[in-house]
Amino acid sequence: MLHSLLSLATGLSAFTAPVAAPPTTSTLHKVATLKITILSTMLADQGMGEWGFSALVEADGRRILFDTGLRPETVLQNARDLGIDLSGVTDVVLSHHHGDHTGGLLELRRELSKQSPAAMSRIHVAPGIFLSRRHPGSELEVNPTIALKSAMEATGAVFMEHGKPEEIFPGVWLTGPVPRPNPERYWGQPESIVTANGLVPDSIPEDMSLLIDTDRGFVVVAGCGHAGTINTVQDARRILGAEPAYAIIGGLHLFAASDSALAWTASRLRSAHLGYLLGAHCTGIEAVFRIRELAALDRKRAVVAAVGSSFDASKGIDPLSLAQ
Ligand SMILES: [Zn+2]
Ligand SMILES: [Zn+2]
Repeated sequence: MLHSLLSLATGLSAFTAPVAAPPTTSTLHKVATLKITILSTMLADQGMGEWGFSALVEADGRRILFDTGLRPETVLQNARDLGIDLSGVTDVVLSHHHGDHTGGLLELRRELSKQSPAAMSRIHVAPGIFLSRRHPGSELEVNPTIALKSAMEATGAVFMEHGKPEEIFPGVWLTGPVPRPNPERYWGQPESIVTANGLVPDSIPEDMSLLIDTDRGFVVVAGCGHAGTINTVQDARRILGAEPAYAIIGGLHLFAASDSALAWTASRLRSAHLGYLLGAHCTGIEAVFRIRELAALDRKRAVVAAVGSSFDASKGIDPLSLAQ
């Protein structure tokens, strides 16, 4: 009986389509036109600087806001100063729960939905972003996204959790939570997660990046780099295949990294054939310069990001004035 079932299965397999192989680089959709514009970071040629991060990603005509800055009005005002209309942007990615990435969302939603009801209405996050957090020795809730979620949902916005890598638009991926095989502990301020068994150190488990797949390799947009730069690059290669790391845009949390940690990071970025680095926010000025040198980049390819600076997949980095 078993033998006949096996024969039947074997016979059937000859007439059915072969099991789909895992996606390879050649089968994945590639984004043809890509522009990423920085809307919140410390350095500003135009608009306001702040300790925060936000960038507008435009990929084949799809527009996504990645993080929303610290202060309620920064991204809204900087976009106006730069002549960028955000009212048509429906999708927002929050890289993690910290206020310097989530602080502008509610004001953006309230202001822009007056012009377009769907503006900033679909919020992409990863599991863990709404966990309760405490500072050591305090009972106060310090996770601002818990209250933000309620306030946003009251306006009709919806949150979508991504527990694994997902292609949200053709060629545009969210990593979901990033595996961390390397000991990159760039977690920022000491906070604890409240669990049923007490407090545990907050490794910011929800930290995720946006990946854009292009013919020249993948582009990473990172918020604060808490999952680790190399962990994230390795995750991108796991998701999209062993392509070059064409560009990394955003915050990498290397501002306080030791010389040896920067050398380690840069050597691995060099091995990943990093083409461009637009280092914003918590990347750190010295870290950008070290990576420029140690990853064999030059001043056009490794730049400290300013508000309004941009990366175009066909033209490279436009640094604006001060950081050129
Ligand atoms: Zn952070
Ligand atoms: Zn940050």
